[in-house]
Amino acid sequence: MKRSKKLLALYVALLFGLFFSVSSSAQEAARLSRASVCFRIPCNIWTDDARFAQLLEILGKYPGIADELTFFTQKTHTPIPDDELERRCVLLKQRIAEAHARGYRAGINLMCTLGHHPENVPHSIGPEFPRAQTMDGKIAEGTLCPNNDLFRERIRRVYTAAAKAGPDYIWIDDDVRVIHMLDSDGTHGWICFCDNCMKTLSQQFDEEIDRDFIRAHYNEPDVLAKIRTFTSDTIDGLFALIEKTVHDVDPDMPLGFMTGERYDEGYDFERWAKTLSGPNRDKEVYWRPGGGFYEQSYMSALFGKSHEIGRQVSLLPPEVVVIQSEIENFPYQFLLKSANVTTLEAVSHIAAGCTGAAFNVLTNNDEPLDEYEDLIAKIAERRPFFDLAVRYLGRNPNVGIFPLWERTEGYYPNRSPVQALTSCFSEAGIPVAYKYLPDQTNVGVLSHAYLSHHTREEAKKLFQMGIYTDVNALNLANDPESYALNDLTGMEYDGEIRVDGIEKFEEHPLNGPFAGRTRDLRQSFWREPICSLKKTNENVETLSSCVDYAGDQKAETIVGVFENSLGGRVCVNGFYPWSNFYNNSKQSQIRAIVRWLSRDRLPGYVDSFALVNFWMRAPNADGGFAGIAINSNYDPIKNVALMLKTDKDSIDVYDYSCRKTTVKASSSDAAGYRRFVVPEIKPWEPVLFVCE
Ligand SMILES: [Zn+2]
Repeated sequence: MKRSKKLLALYVALLFGLFFSVSSSAQEAARLSRASVCFRIPCNIWTDDARFAQLLEILGKYPGIADELTFFTQKTHTPIPDDELERRCVLLKQRIAEAHARGYRAGINLMCTLGHHPENVPHSIGPEFPRAQTMDGKIAEGTLCPNNDLFRERIRRVYTAAAKAGPDYIWIDDDVRVIHMLDSDGTHGWICFCDNCMKTLSQQFDEEIDRDFIRAHYNEPDVLAKIRTFTSDTIDGLFALIEKTVHDVDPDMPLGFMTGERYDEGYDFERWAKTLSGPNRDKEVYWRPGGGFYEQSYMSALFGKSHEIGRQVSLLPPEVVVIQSEIENFPYQFLLKSANVTTLEAVSHIAAGCTGAAFNVLTNNDEPLDEYEDLIAKIAERRPFFDLAVRYLGRNPNVGIFPLWERTEGYYPNRSPVQALTSCFSEAGIPVAYKYLPDQTNVGVLSHAYLSHHTREEAKKLFQMGIYTDVNALNLANDPESYALNDLTGMEYDGEIRVDGIEKFEEHPLNGPFAGRTRDLRQSFWREPICSLKKTNENVETLSSCVDYAGDQKAETIVGVFENSLGGRVCVNGFYPWSNFYNNSKQSQIRAIVRWLSRDRLPGYVDSFALVNFWMRAPNADGGFAGIAINSNYDPIKNVALMLKTDKDSIDVYDYSCRKTTVKASSSDAAGYRRFVVPEIKPWEPVLFVCE
């Protein structure tokens, strides 16, 4: 790298606050001074002089809105011919210079490395490049096989062209994946199982295997594990080639990769991030975790995506600090996702672990950009909150209860149930962790799927922590053929109530003032059976029983709690255990259960009757911590009580306009929780709370 370019890089890093310091505390990762925000610029804008000028003009009205402009190499999802890509890189060099002149960093997003799926095939890469093949033998017309010399030659050619255009960084898009759309009828398939790839995959087995074998045994854990290893190796090899190619042109150019929550790729983020950082592990790597949330008709999907992103971020090594969430409004029909939802999405993903956002929200059509100015203005308005949040949350991991999952479990479409296990707690104002941190809350949320992947010894260890679970997992834990942990669970399945069952809250300290209340989820409409629990240990305590419409008891216990001989605490919920915590009594009971399971180690929670998604981060070395609460409903919430485990007398609460209110603790309890009452959170708005 030339000296002048190094100085420029230093200047840019200082300007955009990407410097960070790593604390000696294992819990405290990089501390960032602000968010990293980019706009991803579609081809139809940057290939048109007038439209690109209009973009710069509009963005110029909002100084500080974005740090980076990231240029897509193409609009459609099948690779374009190499010479066409090289031709575009000539113009990109000019656009990058124009972006620099306006004070933006500028990079290239290589839209197609493998290719996503068939689109604009007649004007795309030629048939001489071998296409990927599924285990059924189907050809993926828009996706290239990644394991042949012609493909590798192409990768060298197009990534060299991109690097020579002089960007500040290059992004690899999320077409580097295993699940692709095959043809115009929308069928998806897993790649690549072509004859050539099958030879490589066979090396994982003791014998030559074929596609028929893969199809027949795909869901067997040991076969699936081998396929995932092969896939992870393929991606890793591809990234080693891209890394070498790009760094041969510019040794210091950061590489970024966009991902989704796809278990069948191997989910090997740490390995791939290290490979992209080069043989000496010293090049900067960016990450763009994503997921599907393209329109606002189902707002729970926004938070579901945040949890997917949280899990993705939890697998990244701490040295990856530029983590821009994918904010995508595909297919870019302006009214499908409002400016308010688009910006709230960035906040929600920051709460879950990102340190910035990549807005892919501009038009892909030939239409003037002034129709998008309100959206751009809203992003500019909310940018200070993104910065504030990243400054306080940094890369500290999320803490709270841990919905048990691991990257090696699940397969599409019967994937890990962790999503359902996470959302119901997060929206009840209970913070969730995406990674197990033994010195934190120590409460696991346990599914049958998770338990089934573990040995008896591992299962036994689980029941030494706090465990919230359902009857499916209970039955497996008790099964004499597998785990035989009856002594530790204290309860057994005791039959089902299939009609007219209503939950009744019994007298118990965890139910507090709600004893005697009922919760009817109308079994005649939603026919989930209610499971009765038999106490096999006299110390099991009943939280809820089941009654019918006449008030007659149908089961003595459907929610029970137990402290076992190893000191573990267990709650088994036999009545809609993963949903519908939406009335005051249930929400309060669930919060009390989780706090009890944690032995008062839960770092905090919301203690008001409200729909608030809630995240907290591990403390810094000095004990300070921060978190985000999002009002996830259409009504304002007044006097939102946050119960936080701290000895501080006050916290700072920042609203969406970054106005600070200092809130003094109004009370405290013997376990060390203090109650801080936030005066108001507006509908679909966040607050950032800081305790330092
Ligand atoms: Zn292949």
